[in-house]
Amino acid sequence: MSDDVTMDQIVSLSRRRGFVFPSSEIYGGMGSTFDYGHYGVLMKNNIRELWFEAMVRNRDDIVAIDSAVILHPKVWEASGHVAGFTDPLIDCRTCKLRFRADKLEDSSCGLRPSKHPGETPECDLTEPRRFNLMFETTVGALQEEGSRAFLRPETAQGIFINFKNVLQIARRKPPFGIAQVGKSFRNEITPGNFLFRVREFEQMEMEFFVPPDEAEKWYRYWIDERLNWYRHYGLRDSKLRVREHGPEERSHYSRGTSDIEYDYPIGWSELEGIANRGDFDLTQHAEHSTTKLEYVGQDGERYVPYVIEPAVSIERIMVAMLVDAYDEEVVGERERTVLRLHPKIAPVTAAILPLIGKSDEMVAKARSLYEDLRRRHSVEYDDNGAIGRRYRRQDEIGTPWAFTVDEQTLEDDTVTVRDRDSLAQERIPIAGARDWLEDALERDWKSPRGN
Ligand code: ATP
Repeated sequence: MSDDVTMDQIVSLSRRRGFVFPSSEIYGGMGSTFDYGHYGVLMKNNIRELWFEAMVRNRDDIVAIDSAVILHPKVWEASGHVAGFTDPLIDCRTCKLRFRADKLEDSSCGLRPSKHPGETPECDLTEPRRFNLMFETTVGALQEEGSRAFLRPETAQGIFINFKNVLQIARRKPPFGIAQVGKSFRNEITPGNFLFRVREFEQMEMEFFVPPDEAEKWYRYWIDERLNWYRHYGLRDSKLRVREHGPEERSHYSRGTSDIEYDYPIGWSELEGIANRGDFDLTQHAEHSTTKLEYVGQDGERYVPYVIEPAVSIERIMVAMLVDAYDEEVVGERERTVLRLHPKIAPVTAAILPLIGKSDEMVAKARSLYEDLRRRHSVEYDDNGAIGRRYRRQDEIGTPWAFTVDEQTLEDDTVTVRDRDSLAQERIPIAGARDWLEDALERDWKSPRGN
């Protein structure tokens, strides 16, 4: 098993197998923008579903919300984004490239052989300027003052401005949380590394409102919860770590921030952030909107809750999971590429294959099993080509199991189940296939690539 996966290998597999395509390709592409193909959509759906299950469905203390993408412009003044959601930007007058002043050591200058910006005598860099990352748009037909708006750069603010609604209508009392999944937009200066840094991404954020004196406890709690979620869905321990920000690195609102980092091919980088935002957001929105945003208990107790926020994008999870799962090995002199994804993350849970695609009887049995399984699971039927090629195709998209209908099926109504990782095959009655699959999905899963 190999462990040195490059981003290029992930990009190439994603494209070859229809997970992710470069966007607008027939027009020459649009840098760092991607479209998701069938398997990418299925995988994203699984990640979103499993996050939602852990954060909302399996809990009594968190509810969901789905706020608008374009909010009142004052939201972004109150949140500090208009004034402060900026990156320091440097231009090179020679190569005409643009860099983040705080990431020069990760950037390459446009000249060859490429060095870091500023390291060749020809480099002619400007002073850093602040560049706001929010995309601006105009609401309504008239381009006049007051119609300027922004695409949200995070989903969190849509939660804070609904705090009062949820408190009253969902009758919640801290500690409780509000969760949201949806697209966020940032005009990143240096997007790149495949889906790791893109200009539009699907964020999954949860704001957990707590009494101020419990904030530290819940902050630690959510770091552990989220780390365990990644472990549960198969990311290897050796590739995960928690890094606590020093005071100088924290955002203006933060009283504590930790990143769950993954060892991506670009090095250890932020997968998910968990922040103790204190009462900053509710206080700001209360001030700017002149609406009281506080908790008032029946005994007259009142306070502005502190907020603990786990925030991540589906994109960063997807890259981490693809990198963690990607493997190449030689089996019986044949090389195979296999995605060892957690079975609940894999886009297709099982493939149903007639051994001989031209055999009407095998096709009929396989189709009937497929029709049964597809009602509850993401399964795929394939009768096209040699069986070895069909298996390899499923390995590359990470399908954990394949049910194969062969000669023996026609005699005794059993099928073989092939395991993606061990390649072991067992025979089971065709009538028990659905139960077998459901049991298999509930088994604990550990990456066969070790810890
Ligand atoms: P970075 O320092 O990498 O720019 P950030 O600290 O600005 O990230 P947050 O504002 O904390 O990121 O956003 C929360 C989460 O949203 C991140 O942990 C990451 O999972 C995701 N995210 C942020 N920006 C992007 C992006 N441009 N592309 C994909 N995912 C992103």
